[in-house]
Amino acid sequence: MTERDAAEGVAALAALLGRAQRVVALTGAGISTESGIPDFRSPGGVWSRHDPRDLTFDRYVADAGVRARSWEMRQEFFATRPAPNPAHAALVALERAGRLRAVITQNIDGLHQDAGSREVVEVHGTARTVTCIGRWPVDGLPDGCGFVAPYAWAVERLESGDPDPGCPDCGGLVKSATVSFGQQLPEQAIRRAQLHAAVSDVFLVVGSSLQVYPAAALPGVAQQNGARVVIVNDEPTDLDPVAHLVVRGRAGEVLPTAVAGVAPHRNG
Ligand code: NAD
Repeated sequence: MTERDAAEGVAALAALLGRAQRVVALTGAGISTESGIPDFRSPGGVWSRHDPRDLTFDRYVADAGVRARSWEMRQEFFATRPAPNPAHAALVALERAGRLRAVITQNIDGLHQDAGSREVVEVHGTARTVTCIGRWPVDGLPDGCGFVAPYAWAVERLESGDPDPGCPDCGGLVKSATVSFGQQLPEQAIRRAQLHAAVSDVFLVVGSSLQVYPAAALPGVAQQNGARVVIVNDEPTDLDPVAHLVVRGRAGEVLPTAVAGVAPHRNG
């Protein structure tokens, strides 16, 4: 891809966004790499030390050692105090201009909310809170008492020497409110994401390898309902051949440039 191709891609995206009224974005780990959070591929990243396939829901439930490793990973994740980058900010600007309806995210980092996005659908949960999953959860189904607390609650207990903080209300297990391998997805969030995808006129995928379902099925839902699918990614994805437009580049460069020239929607 030449520089000219990239510039033409950004200009085509700007033109599309300038005519859109119901943009819905789907974001993956790639939108947060410029905030210093590694994606699955980043060399030396958290995922090269902790394989999430080892940290399945069933193993979390069965093994205190796995719970300790999961908390360690969470602490590592937040230690760098990640902050939103210009790509997150560009989506906020598009929402404020009345052109973007929602951000659907596979990320668990909470950076869209930190940036100021209002309608955020987290299909893989959030690391910002922890929740009781009960005493005997089975088959990926939490069986908690409803206890929910900010992540800081767990940090306080971990730092005071409790390696396996339990639920203060029922004594059950406590887990980050993220979706682990083998854990059921949050049904309501998935349904909201599908509804947003179905009414979008531009479905903008940013920094997702589109390999994890059901998120990877959302561009198809949007397209079947008449939306134009745009993919912004720094490497090819499986859905590039069916997209209306592919812009190859870094999200933190492509999105701010494309959004800069977009005028507010008059009813926005
Ligand atoms: P992925 O790691 O499979 O794919 C990320 C994609 O983004 C890759 O194709 C990569 O080339 C691209 N990319 C990386 N940096 C980019 C940039 N600056 N600009 C444009 N593209 C860039 O991520 P995924 O598809 O989101 O799936 C990974 C799963 O792991 C998700 O379900 C998510 O829950 C979880 N995860 C979350 C975080 C987070 O919350 N920040 C980080 C890592 C993994």
